[in-house]
Amino acid sequence: MSVRKADIVVLGAGVIGVCVALYLQRDGHEVVLVDQDEPGNGCSFGNAGLIQCASVVPVATPGVARAVPRMLLDKNQPLHIRWRHLPTLTPYLLRFLAESRPDRAARNARALSTIVPRAYDDYRPLIEAAGISAMVRSTGELHVFETDAAFEAARSGGFAIRRSHGVRVEELDAAQVGELEPALTNTVRHGLFLPDCHQTVNPKSFVAALAGHFIANGGTFIQARVEDVQVGPQGKVTVATTNGAVGADHIVLSFGAFSAPWARRLGVRVQLDSERGYHVMLPQPGVALNRTVVSGEYKFALAPIDGRVRIVGTAELARVGAPPAYERATRLIPLARHILPGLDDAGRTLWMGHRPSTPDSLPVLGQLPRHPNVIFAFGHNHSGLTLGGTTGRIVADLVASRPSVVDLSSFRPTRFYS
Ligand SMILES: Cc1cc2nc3c(=O)[nH]c(=O)nc-3n(C[C@H](O)[C@H](O)[C@H](O)COP(=O)(O)OP(=O)(O)OC[C@H]3O[C@@H](n4cnc5c(N)ncnc54)[C@H](O)[C@@H]3O)c2cc1C
Repeated sequence: MSVRKADIVVLGAGVIGVCVALYLQRDGHEVVLVDQDEPGNGCSFGNAGLIQCASVVPVATPGVARAVPRMLLDKNQPLHIRWRHLPTLTPYLLRFLAESRPDRAARNARALSTIVPRAYDDYRPLIEAAGISAMVRSTGELHVFETDAAFEAARSGGFAIRRSHGVRVEELDAAQVGELEPALTNTVRHGLFLPDCHQTVNPKSFVAALAGHFIANGGTFIQARVEDVQVGPQGKVTVATTNGAVGADHIVLSFGAFSAPWARRLGVRVQLDSERGYHVMLPQPGVALNRTVVSGEYKFALAPIDGRVRIVGTAELARVGAPPAYERATRLIPLARHILPGLDDAGRTLWMGHRPSTPDSLPVLGQLPRHPNVIFAFGHNHSGLTLGGTTGRIVADLVASRPSVVDLSSFRPTRFYS
């Protein structure tokens, strides 16, 4: 069987794999990108489209332990854990609870604050080279509150953490919120505005455009399922796919939520699970938004995608192959109509995606100690679209043996079981 040769093979053409491939291509490498699907059809397809340069707060924070029983018993919680999958999820949950200790949560927020605020700057070279600046708008992200209690809790909780890491937060009154988003309910009393967040017009077309640029510049995309990966005694890598084999000097694993078994095959056990999220796309909403709006009370987002409205949210821990629970998404429709009166759900479509989540909310990013030519780049949790550019840049620096722009020790692939 003939083996296609490349300098580097990148596994997975979600936003992470595509950005990694582009940054490596900019360094002059011959890159092969492999995915069983079209680029951007995994979790990168249906998210809120935000490059959230303010997301420095991990999911596991002090107090989360008290919420776990509710997460198990009440399907309406923003984060629900499916009972049936508890035995498989237990190691993840135990680590998640450990990461919620004040010292660990503070350390994880610090690690996020080294990569998240720089995310847009690291995207800029890719966006400009691809000529797609019009696909990203610098509109900020608006959190709205109908009650003083929810506002104060957010202000002294997650938003205080953001501020302590230098993230700009603006406090708005009801009139200022109304000026930004005239279509919102007049029951909104407060707003917290994050001016340094950016909105892609549609995450799928954004990733597809970046992948198109990679191919137009001579990059190879193979649409095939990866069936095996081998690292030879000299470190050479061979990837077997349903459409032939690829041999390379380096390999980057970017299979998102599906990466754990491949990581194990490459010699490292990681704690990674699917934190499933849902959206409802409303093709003729009848009302318009200028930016993504997050409900402080109900913890879901309304995102302007292609000039329409996408209701995005909820998180559910279950096994990767478990069937979707679309009622989690449809349950958000009346809440969305409450925030955005007159919202029309005619012709709605539903979607579920697998967030690649880790118990410490940090990506798995770095070289394997035994095989420095094997690089992991997955586990971007709620911020994969945000961190595409930064991850690409970091991986290219590792391959080129340039000093990394951030300290990678918190993200190291071996941190879970060492
Ligand atoms: C509801 C929701 C809203 C979100 N909103 C945001 C947001 O606004 N901003 C943000 O930054 N993040 C957001 N996220 C998170 C973000 O979507 C993810 O972190 C990101 O998409 C992960 O990208 P990825 O490239 O790692 O994975 P994916 O996009 O899932 O790509 C992995 C790829 O690997 C391929 N693959 C897997 N196994 C194989 C195999 N054996 N052979 C070949 N190919 C394979 C898959 O086909 C897939 O294309 C949201 C997530 C959800 C669910």
